[in-house]
Formats: sequence, C-alpha cells, structure tokens
Amino acid sequence: MINLSNKEVWFITGSQHLYGPETLRHVAEDSMVISESLCNSARFPVRIIFKPVLTTPESIYEICANANNNNNCIGLIAWMHTFSPAKMWIKGLSVLNKPLLHFHTQMNRDIPWDTIDMDFMNLNQSAHGDREFGFIGSRMRMGRKVVVGHWQDEEAVDRIAVWVRAATAFNDVHDMKIARFGDNMRDVAVTEGNKVSAQIRMGYSVYGYGIGDLVASVNSVTDYEVNSLLEEYVVSYELTREVAGSATLRDAAQIEAGMDKFLKAGNYKAFTTTFEDLHGLKQLPGLAVQRLMEKGYGFGAEGDWKTAALVRSMKVMASGLPGGTSFMEDYTYHLDPSGMSVLGAHMLEVCPSISADKPYLEVHPLSIGGKADPARLVFKSATGKAVNASLIDLGNRFRMIVNKVNVIDCPDMPNLPVASVLWQPMPDLKTGAAAWIMAGGAHHTGFSTAVSAEYIEDFSAMMGIEYLLIDENCDLTSFQKEIRWNEIYYHLNEGIK
Ligand code: MN
Repeated sequence: MINLSNKEVWFITGSQHLYGPETLRHVAEDSMVISESLCNSARFPVRIIFKPVLTTPESIYEICANANNNNNCIGLIAWMHTFSPAKMWIKGLSVLNKPLLHFHTQMNRDIPWDTIDMDFMNLNQSAHGDREFGFIGSRMRMGRKVVVGHWQDEEAVDRIAVWVRAATAFNDVHDMKIARFGDNMRDVAVTEGNKVSAQIRMGYSVYGYGIGDLVASVNSVTDYEVNSLLEEYVVSYELTREVAGSATLRDAAQIEAGMDKFLKAGNYKAFTTTFEDLHGLKQLPGLAVQRLMEKGYGFGAEGDWKTAALVRSMKVMASGLPGGTSFMEDYTYHLDPSGMSVLGAHMLEVCPSISADKPYLEVHPLSIGGKADPARLVFKSATGKAVNASLIDLGNRFRMIVNKVNVIDCPDMPNLPVASVLWQPMPDLKTGAAAWIMAGGAHHTGFSTAVSAEYIEDFSAMMGIEYLLIDENCDLTSFQKEIRWNEIYYHLNEGIK
C-alpha cells in the first residue's frame, strides 16, 4: 500500500546569462550528468528529474510554482554550478512550499593542476556560487538541508537519499487519514493532543469511529475471505495444527479481513484501537494489527493517533530498505549494571517486519481486556542499530524525540507470549532514559531497524517541528539547556498559531 513509483525530485541548477551560451551549455550538460547519476543510483526510491538551467527570476519563479502544483514532485535539489545572483531567487523561493535540498557539489572532483585556466575557473564556481545561494536561504529563514561533497561521494549521495526518503514521507502526510476505532484510553495524557493543530502543522486528519462501525465491516466478511487468510497464515508462520483449526483463529482472520476492508474503503493510512473499547469484537485485534502494519499501515494502540501516523511515516521512509518498522512500547527494564537494557513489546501489536525469523502464530489468554484469547504473532527482533521515535504535543508545538538504540540478543523467554525486542539505549540506559523523560517522550514509539535518526531529523525539519536527538553524545546538562532554549525559540518563532 506504499507506492512511490510516480514520485519525483527535481534537480535544478542556477546560473546567469553573464557567461554566454557556450558556458551555459556546459552547465546544462554537467547538471544532466549529475542528475542522471543520482537518478540511476539504487539508493533513491523515486526518480531524480533534470530541469533546464535557471538564469532569470521569471524561470526560477516558474519552476517553484510548477513544483508546488505538481502532485508527483516531492522536493527540489538545487545546485549553483556557477554564480547565480540570489536576488533572482527571492520571488521563486518565497512561494516554494516543497522541501529543498541544497547540494553543494562540483562537476570535477579534483583540480586539474596542469591545465587549469580562467575558463575552467569561470565554469566551476560552486564554491562561491553556492555560498550566495546559501545566504539567501538563510536571509529568508528557509528550512532546507545542505549536503556537501562530490556527486560521486557515497557519503554525500547517502545523505541526499535520506532526505529524498524523508520527502516521500512528508508528501505522504498531506493526506494522512487516520481511523480511530474507539477513543483514547481513559485518562492517558501523552496519547492525546490537539487534532486541529496536528492537521494545520502536519496534515493529519483523525476520523473517530464507534467500534460498531468496524464490527459491521467484520460481519460482512465472507467465508471465502476468511479461508484465504487462513491458508496464507499456514504458509507464512509456524503454527500448530490445533491453532490452525481453531475457531479463535477464524475469528482473528475475520477481524483482519474486516479491518482491511474498512481501511481500504476510507483510504486510511493509519489506525488506532483501544482494548477498553472492543464492544462486539470477539477478541482484541492482535494478529490483524500486526499484519496490517506489515502491509504499510501505521498503528497506535490505546487511541494513540500521533504514534499511528508516525509509524506510517517511518514505514514510507523505509519502503524497500532492509529492516523493519513497528509500533513499540518501552515495557520493562533489565537493570543489571553489566548491561542495562529495555525489553520493548506491547500487549500484542508488534509488526513482524522487524522479526529475525519466521514468526510463530499462537493463541494465548490476555490478562487484561476481558475478551476471548486473541491470536498473535510471537517472535524476536533482528539485532543491530535501531531508533525509537516519539511525537508529542506540548501545547504550543509538536516535538519529535529520537533515541538511537542497539538491539541485542534476547535470552529465551518461554512464558512470554508476545513479540519483543531487547535494546540498549544510547548513550546508556540511565542517561538515555533520563533525557527521554526530561523531554516528555511517550511510552509509545515508532521503532525502526530500517531508518536512522537522520531520516527523522530531515522529516521533522520539513514539517517545521522541534527535533531532539538522544544519541551516543548525549550529555544531560546540555540536553536540558537545549530544551530550555527551544522553549524560547519556539515561543518567539511560532507566536500564536
Ligand atoms: Mn500501550
């Protein structure tokens, strides 16, 4: 359900008429080579499209206005091959509402010491031309990413690819419809938030449904649809004959098919449930939620629509990358001084995209909720680098908090009937958890082994929201100062919006 095939990023190059047609022809040729090289890189999930060299205020304005109005264009990469006087850019940049990346590169990697002359110098001027462009971006207080390096420098290309993927998620949030089955879990604060502010700032639109609306869809599911899913389960998971033939699993399949129909019919990208409101459903949707997340839906439990949307955005950024992305909760701690770690899990709803192996499909009682024993996939996560991200509403603004973590091998837990992940937060559990709590980070997160913190940083910048990173360099004293300074910055910057 995540389809990026028709999306594109436009590669624009600035210059001016001063240099004459011969130089401008070289500029266009070089720009085409660079944009094609980027486009052909397997790192990019969308096409990079070369656009004719810009030499006048009118052509700059036109390309910015066209980018705004083109639904497939998700952002612009700008490069000043030569000097491009930046007053020409003011009109265009003042209307541009697509993400902008400034690629500070040049055609040649090395200076040709033996042959360099003034013609070469006049053609290859980005070292100062891009500074002029940088000034106008700063003067206009424009959010943008700046990437520096030769266009064949893998590190530079990787950073552009991260931004492109963030732009796909930013494009995706503009019609982020979230279905909320039931309301918020009673009295929980962090899962709440101002939905009008969220729509103005981030495009989220939350549609609340009585659980009866979902039950009607579940009841409309045919035997054929249920049987098809049951066959799929047998192929995809490890399960006993007893579970395969159980009425419980049939009920779980019916719930999955009913939810799937409901979400497709309404073009929803994310959804929430709450175990406090299951009226008319035979069991808490566990397997259904896990499998729908794997298909690309965002999910948040207990009515958590912000985390649902965030999980969806992280899945869009991660589309086609190795690793997985899931709804997650910090569940319980291992406080052994020789290696403190967090066991992450949820009642049921962890996405199998992060599983190390083929998941087990099991049925167990649920200790809270008072419904029939739900089916669920049980597995351990793959190990390695990962991130936890949380999006909270501070009243006057939204804040994104990211903690880098290392997922480690987890001992067997024969009595734990849910999927789980064991990680060590950076820089260490004591510092990481203290910083997270000082920042107000939620117990619910978007967890990913596919995207790094830089993706979420770029994405947050595109949405214009606060971003706090807790990584290997986190120092609590500095972190608390950053929080206090941000209070002032956002108060002055945002005013009353
Ligand atoms: Mn929860």
